[in-house]
Amino acid sequence: MPDTPLPHHSHGPSDIELRVSRLEKLLVDKGLVDPAAIDALVDTYQNQVGPRNGARVVARAWTDENYKKQLLENATESIMELGYQGRQGEHMQVVENTDTVHNMVVCTLCSCYPWPVLGLPPTWYKASSYRARAVSEPRAVLAEFGVEVAEDVEIRVWDSTAEIRYLVLPQRPAGTEEFNEDDLAKLVTRDSMIGVGLVQSPQSPS
Ligand code: FE
Repeated sequence: MPDTPLPHHSHGPSDIELRVSRLEKLLVDKGLVDPAAIDALVDTYQNQVGPRNGARVVARAWTDENYKKQLLENATESIMELGYQGRQGEHMQVVENTDTVHNMVVCTLCSCYPWPVLGLPPTWYKASSYRARAVSEPRAVLAEFGVEVAEDVEIRVWDSTAEIRYLVLPQRPAGTEEFNEDDLAKLVTRDSMIGVGLVQSPQSPS
């Protein structure tokens, strides 16, 4: 198929989503695919393959001050420099968490998401409750994700669109001073790059 843009910011499932779900049902009904296998595949792309790219970007920014500066100024090209590009990642912006600002990302109208660095969006990201509440009560939503943001920290909520996709640069956790880029990348979670999680300090050996 040519590079026809998919419809964005329309409510309800798109034609393509409806076609995919009908196709999936047909394949399952005919016994051609196992729904558990499909779930496992989706999970892989949601949690494993996709977000590992974003984690590489974050780890590079944590270890290379020049790269970080460049990433904050021109995210699309800086991410492409590490080899990550493609559909839904053409216009990226990276927003940095600091001691005084916490960023989180939503798409209030549908599910715009930076595929090349995060893979497929999780189900909750597409849920109407997240889309509405991330804007109206971000602090409460973050608390439900287990993230307590201090009262004096400003929360900035970024609304993704077909035109621009956001990636949160989380704060580098304490206790990682000796970590190299590979070790750091392993700590970075998908949720921390959406802004609904924090990167945890490495567990000290018990
Ligand atoms: Fe959207």
